[in-house]
Amino acid sequence: PLDKDELGRSTWGFLHTMASYFPDKPTVKQSQDMKSFLQIFAQFYPCEPCALDFQEDIQKHPPKTKSRDELAKWLCDRHNTVNIKLGKPSYDCSKVHERWRDGWPD
Ligand code: FAD
Repeated sequence: PLDKDELGRSTWGFLHTMASYFPDKPTVKQSQDMKSFLQIFAQFYPCEPCALDFQEDIQKHPPKTKSRDELAKWLCDRHNTVNIKLGKPSYDCSKVHERWRDGWPD
């Protein structure tokens, strides 16, 4: 099985990449479906303490899915909440597309 850190790294990679490729102008259905996806994800994320805290966090800060930028920023903030909880530095959310979509310039 994957350990908690490996699972976390792969999952954040997936979630941030998905946010970076979310439509700029989603349809109402796409916005609603992404909200549902995130709520369901939080229910079944296979690390119980992580999932419980994440459920609580997204209850306080519901998913923002009106645009790609809004979703990417929302997710970056959620990841920062976990970073801070684990004593890691907070990530600069202005770099999120560069990191997860466009690639770093050389
Ligand atoms: P990660 O935090 O996995 O990040 C991977 C890469 O993402 C980083 O190298 C960096 O390039 C980039 N990055 C970092 N911060 C951001 C950001 N804010 N926005 C965008 N990109 C960023 N672990 C626990 O021990 N306890 C928990 O309660 C817990 N809850 C979790 C909840 C969720 C929903 C998820 C997905 C994971 C959780 N984890 C938890 C795992 C934890 O967040 C890390 O994935 C794990 O500790 C490995 O950390 P890492 O330092 O390798 O980098």
